[in-house]
Amino acid sequence: MENKITIAVDGFASCGKSTLAKGIAKALDYAYIDTGAMYRAVTLYCIENEVNINDDNAIQSALDAIDIRFKTIEGKNTAFLNGKNVEEDIRKMFVSNRVSEVAAVSLVRRAMVRQQQEMGKEKGVILDGRDIGTVVFPDAELKLFMTANIEVRTQRRLLELQNKGQSITPEIIAKNLQHRDHIDSTRADSPLKQADDAIVIDNSNLTENEQLTMCLALVKIRINS
Ligand code: C5P
Repeated sequence: MENKITIAVDGFASCGKSTLAKGIAKALDYAYIDTGAMYRAVTLYCIENEVNINDDNAIQSALDAIDIRFKTIEGKNTAFLNGKNVEEDIRKMFVSNRVSEVAAVSLVRRAMVRQQQEMGKEKGVILDGRDIGTVVFPDAELKLFMTANIEVRTQRRLLELQNKGQSITPEIIAKNLQHRDHIDSTRADSPLKQADDAIVIDNSNLTENEQLTMCLALVKIRINS
């Protein structure tokens, strides 16, 4: 049987990580773990329950009350928060606007990383996030670090939100992406940064198929090495 590996996909906001990671997972029949969805679910909980994220006790009580799971519904990876399908809500702007602040809280990171390590402990898994190759699975056999220029990322997110019926301007989107990238890259606890042994993929000018083909070739090399 072919060796299974752990694959880490990190990078900036809206640079196609999840599309690529889902494509690789499908092609290889690997499990896909969307770690961003977990931080988004915690953020949704904190907003709905007015949790003061600067108060460690309040954050800890919230974390104790939060149960995040994923199920496949109609072929789509779907996030559940305390038994409720929150896939749509966690992608909305009111969550995107707060998620990086919540994800910078060490208690939140500790709880999410622990759960991600548990979920991904079997090989044959691909995780998409910001700190997978540096913190969650530093021994992952293949680490991809994705980037794309801000115009391309803004257009992709605009299309995604428009397809979901959310009306929004490119300016607001670009601002949110840059705001999140800034907080994610400069936070004290596990900042977004390229792992030393990551392969950088700038997909500004690549189609989804081109990057998938390229990455599946990289996977093959790693599996056989
Ligand atoms: O991947 P996505 O854009 O949905 O992630 C939302 C936010 O969650 C990121 O901007 C970041 O603040 C946080 N995040 C993180 N660590 C991860 C995944 C996401 O801090 N591993």
